Amino acid sequence: MSRPIAIVTRLDAAEEMEWRDQIAALLPEERIIPFRDMSADDRSEAEIAIVANPDPTDVAALPGLVWIHSLWAGVERLVSELGAGAAPIVRLVDPELSRVMAEAVLAWTYYLQRDMPLYRRRQSEMLWQPQAYRPPSTVRMGLLGLGALGTAAARRLTEAGFPVSGWSRSAKSIDGIDCLHGEEGLRQILAQSDILVCLLPLTADTVGLLDAERLGLLKQGASLINFARGRIVTTPALLASLDEGRLAHAVLDVFEQEPLPESSPFWDHPGITVLPHISAPTDLQSASRIVADNIRSYRQTGAIPRTIDIARGY
Ligand code: NAP
Repeated sequence: MSRPIAIVTRLDAAEEMEWRDQIAALLPEERIIPFRDMSADDRSEAEIAIVANPDPTDVAALPGLVWIHSLWAGVERLVSELGAGAAPIVRLVDPELSRVMAEAVLAWTYYLQRDMPLYRRRQSEMLWQPQAYRPPSTVRMGLLGLGALGTAAARRLTEAGFPVSGWSRSAKSIDGIDCLHGEEGLRQILAQSDILVCLLPLTADTVGLLDAERLGLLKQGASLINFARGRIVTTPALLASLDEGRLAHAVLDVFEQEPLPESSPFWDHPGITVLPHISAPTDLQSASRIVADNIRSYRQTGAIPRTIDIARGY
């Protein structure tokens, strides 16, 4: 019998059991035990923990951990709470999540390209006033982040006829996408994009990346879609950019504080569309299959699946 696998989360108990049951059904040979139900022996024997926003003290109570599987794609909170000494972390990389995110990016790109916020406002004023149609080929997209999600979104936009540039940390070459990197690449993508989409991880390098100076480099009348993390964009700079008209509209799915507090100026700002962190929800079934496959492969080969770089933060 393999050593037990811990499931450590701060989800409510019913949701945690749903995850446990789904993964356990795919791995009938494994013992997957919620942390609170583990005996002292189980805790000292566990070499794998499946986690979702775990209490770091629970993870620290598993001294034999060889690796940790996150149920989420974004791991900034896990990295900062577990610290540099944590066991290697495998994050969720799920093609279904990438598909859903790419669909969301395309949907909200159409929302902006077809001027839906403007027509909504005009309707409230009973104003019958058409805008000139802008075909996708004339709307340049800029993707900040060309990882699992950014690349899928970039491809989907390209298929829909939008010219796409992307920006990443390292140099890349992706068919049909103008790939940029480095500070000069950032300046270029900010200056040329009609719609800028943020799909960067939140790290020490990206926190506050879109500040007053960077937003000041945007093309006049550009729009922003932030589906990554709220803290990448500085709130006062975002509001100033909207109020001075450089930024025409911002679609925000992520915020410094979630749920967005009632006092937030974002709620009733005419230039902001607020979404409740729904752009790409994790799919229980497909994510469970990925987690189960990763664990099965580790049991068979002894090789830990690809882990994140804790020092880099993603
Ligand atoms: P990923 O595969 O790790 O890709 C990250 C991309 O960002 C890579 O292209 C990376 O460059 C680039 N990058 C990182 N730091 C950078 C820097 N300092 N300068 C320039 N580029 C940088 O991540 P992912 O799976 O695409 O996910 C991205 C983020 O989406 C997650 O971290 C999470 O926060 C967010 N997310 C949001 C939702 C939602 O519902 N709103 C759902 C899932 C995930 P390299 O390619 O050179 O490494």
